[in-house]
Amino acid sequence: MSDRKAVLAPGATIGILGGGQLGRMLALAAARLGLNCHIYAPDMDSCAFDVVSRSTCAAYDDEAALARFADSVDAITYEFENVPAKTATFLAKRRPVLPDPQVLETTQDRLIEKDFLKGLKIPTAPYAPVHSATQLADGIAALGLPAVLKTRRLGYDGKGQAKITKDSERGEAWRSLREVPCILEGFVKFQREVSVIAARGQDGSVQCFEVTENDHRNHILKVSKLPAKVTPAVAAEARRIATRIVKAFDYVGVMGVEMFVTGTGKKQHVMVNEVAPRVHNSGHWTIDGASVSQFEQHIRAVAGWPLAKPVRLGRVEMVNLLGAEVNEAERWLTVPGAAVHVYGKGAPSPGRKMGHVTRVWPGK
Ligand code: AMP
Repeated sequence: MSDRKAVLAPGATIGILGGGQLGRMLALAAARLGLNCHIYAPDMDSCAFDVVSRSTCAAYDDEAALARFADSVDAITYEFENVPAKTATFLAKRRPVLPDPQVLETTQDRLIEKDFLKGLKIPTAPYAPVHSATQLADGIAALGLPAVLKTRRLGYDGKGQAKITKDSERGEAWRSLREVPCILEGFVKFQREVSVIAARGQDGSVQCFEVTENDHRNHILKVSKLPAKVTPAVAAEARRIATRIVKAFDYVGVMGVEMFVTGTGKKQHVMVNEVAPRVHNSGHWTIDGASVSQFEQHIRAVAGWPLAKPVRLGRVEMVNLLGAEVNEAERWLTVPGAAVHVYGKGAPSPGRKMGHVTRVWPGK
């Protein structure tokens, strides 16, 4: 494997696997720092292609294209967690790939991820592996109902999930997920959902953004708000947990850690729902609401440059424009203080992340 650490010179090129809005915003942040990006993605209409001068449209198993891509860049990163392991291994032999692709093996599989968190003594929802109808019945007996059945791999935004409220729904839930390997999670009666966007540099230093409070609609993030309505102790605990995770992975780059807050008053606690080894939707507010964005922080880490200490610029609210809501962008353009981001994607199918709007009100 090539040396995974590399300090890039100004004007160097970072290769990004994936061409969605996260790749697009990473490339924009890199440009501000005088770095170039080369986007590699299989879809012709990838919206990140539009903001870079170099791009490759090829499949993730096209080794000739991957080799040319690696030769043309100084370091490689990714904007989604389902990069095939073979692709990452192939590239890592040629250029530093950051974060280290080993993190993907853990985070691509909900069961391995939960076991990893358990090993770090980080609280999660109670869970059980489900590889058969019998194991599902055993899992329900152990965890009780309601519970959430999730596919171990390839789920996002509530896809690959089925909530089970009554035992009679068990068979249908198992069939609806096509009987693939799953994990059963006890349903958490959370007070709120929060996340921590953590960055770790090549020198091992860690910087966390402030805890973000997130509202989901139909399992898709709709609104992020700061400050989050949590006690200082819970905020500190959430940041400590995120720091412990990035350190345990010897991670380089930005990671999003989604958490549930349970209990009230002084009895609030945090448990981790999911870990995303990439920049995260709940960190989009940082572009307009903080002194440094999560995208710039990630680029700094991958480049081997110093991380910034983020300072929040006020009370912040970020709203996702989902599906046809992108048509509201024009109205948002006239709202004082609103920073409008449109990703330039194709058709606005229901729930598709098409853009976002951030508002910042000075003060705490
Ligand atoms: P996920 O794809 O695991 O991030 O789940 C998407 C959303 O479903 C989360 O943001 C929660 O709102 C909800 N959810 C997921 N797992 C659980 C759980 N074990 N208990 C309660 N709600 C959950």
